[in-house]
Amino acid sequence: MNLGIDDLPVRDELRGKSPYGAPQLDVPVRLNTNENPYPLPEPLVERITERVREAARDLNRYPDRDAVQLRTELAKYLTKTGHHPVGIENVWAANGSNEVIQQLLQTFGGPGRTAIGFEPSYSMHALISRGTGTGWISGPRNADFTLDVEAASAAVAEHKPDVVFITTPNNPTGTAVPAETVLALYEAAQAAKPSMVVVDEAYIEFSHGASLLPLLEGRPNLVVSRTMSKAFGAAGLRLGYLAAHPAVVDAVQLVRLPYHLSAITQATALAALEHTDTLLKYVEQLKAERDRLVAELRAAGLDVTESDANFVQFGRFEDPHAVWQRILDRGVLVRDNGVPGFLRVSAGTPEENDAFLDAVREVKKELD
Ligand code: PMP
Repeated sequence: MNLGIDDLPVRDELRGKSPYGAPQLDVPVRLNTNENPYPLPEPLVERITERVREAARDLNRYPDRDAVQLRTELAKYLTKTGHHPVGIENVWAANGSNEVIQQLLQTFGGPGRTAIGFEPSYSMHALISRGTGTGWISGPRNADFTLDVEAASAAVAEHKPDVVFITTPNNPTGTAVPAETVLALYEAAQAAKPSMVVVDEAYIEFSHGASLLPLLEGRPNLVVSRTMSKAFGAAGLRLGYLAAHPAVVDAVQLVRLPYHLSAITQATALAALEHTDTLLKYVEQLKAERDRLVAELRAAGLDVTESDANFVQFGRFEDPHAVWQRILDRGVLVRDNGVPGFLRVSAGTPEENDAFLDAVREVKKELD
């Protein structure tokens, strides 16, 4: 019998929907999912192996449910880089920041509640909202993809959402959100409900500006979410984390599955954190490559959105998907996020970026 999803008694809000799916194609140059292009350095691979071997001996036991050692090290990293003291009581970790976001929506969203994001933005905010039964509200953005504080605050005042997502730098546009805008939206959200404001800083290490961690002071309904998938070059590890008031850390534990972070994940993340300085060296290189991509795409006559992330949004194309295909035909995979007129490319190694730039210049010539 040939059955599809919609032949099953799935929840109404899942009918006719497709799963999140950036294509995972086997092509020479993959610049489509904002990964870090540099493999982990060999000494770190050795250290991971050591730590995992140690953890393997205890796999008959459940892992540390509260991930105490890992949260302690994450707190140290945030304190060192975020210009704000963060303790273990302020930090929570999960399998990627996607799971952090899911736990936040399970805790503060859910049936009868709503979340807002300012689109185009990270599509998983809307998808995880749907998956947790949280109503989704699409908030506005300016034509240049910056946030209009008045319009965004008005949307918050009108819809009174339970959760407000602010992604900075924003994906897929690369746009940074100034601290004053976040503060204004926080005030608007508290006046309207009060509600939780989640600042998604997945790409903050690549930003020209500083983290918004200092805004946590005196704001218990603010959460900063982070990941080791991008700057730490460890997307395969699946480790995301948040910083917030200790009450928020207590609250998400109401919904987390017991032992959600495996002993292998905790051991691997701890090894990576021991090598923070080496890993973050690549960030400087990627920022320089990001700036080069912006400059060269502009020199090629394209419309390029200002970027604070490890990727660049470029256009404008009448038919972005056709351009995506032509670039792919030249062995380079970029991303069509469905933003009208635009595509997105992640900063790769200098050689990968050269291959991408050559492909784009050729395609542009064909189109002109
Ligand atoms: N937030 C944003 C803005 C992202 O772009 C991504 C990944 N593309 C994530 C969160 C999730 O990352 P992860 O689950 O790998 O931590």
